[in-house]
Amino acid sequence: MKLRQSRHWVFDMDGTLTLAVHDFEAIKRYLDIPLEHDILHHLAGLPAADAAAKHAWLLEHERELALSAKPAPGAVELVQALHQRGYQLGILTRNAHELAWLTLEAIGVANCFAANAVLGRDEAHPKPDPAGLLHLAEQWQVQPDELVMVGDYLYDLQCARAAGAYSVLVNLAENPWPSLVDHFAVDCSALLEAVADCSKV
Ligand SMILES: [Mg+2]
Repeated sequence: MKLRQSRHWVFDMDGTLTLAVHDFEAIKRYLDIPLEHDILHHLAGLPAADAAAKHAWLLEHERELALSAKPAPGAVELVQALHQRGYQLGILTRNAHELAWLTLEAIGVANCFAANAVLGRDEAHPKPDPAGLLHLAEQWQVQPDELVMVGDYLYDLQCARAAGAYSVLVNLAENPWPSLVDHFAVDCSALLEAVADCSKV
């Protein structure tokens, strides 16, 4: 089974390794973005000065969230366990690299990641585009289908599918996207159990 074979794991951050704290509706209201629009996509379509000002506000807002980040259940234990096995670990987030790193430090797992394996919105086309996963596969010199992508949202799963990676959904009570999910775990504790059980077989 793929989950126990993979030594290359990529995580979404917000809502996957951390408790979800982004209030996307409030952010959109503040930045005057229609609620049905994607934030990053919307900002990309604005005149440069307007986009820059709103990106700056977003970065400041997200910096405060990063500094007060709290780990999701079992996330720290899972990441540390995989790191101790010598696995390659990466982050693929729509947040900024600098803030992703602050967040990893805040929850105490920054030592488990190489800085160049933490990809933010400026290092790769944002999910659901598979560019970030393909970049990490190339960096680690493995095929994309050797990667596990762990996330809590549709974009993570679509990104995994588009890259040909193994998709894991966590932190939801039920799996709303069965056709896109290769493994479902209610949280990272359950995922660690699944991986640990596998290793005993
Ligand atoms: Mg997320």
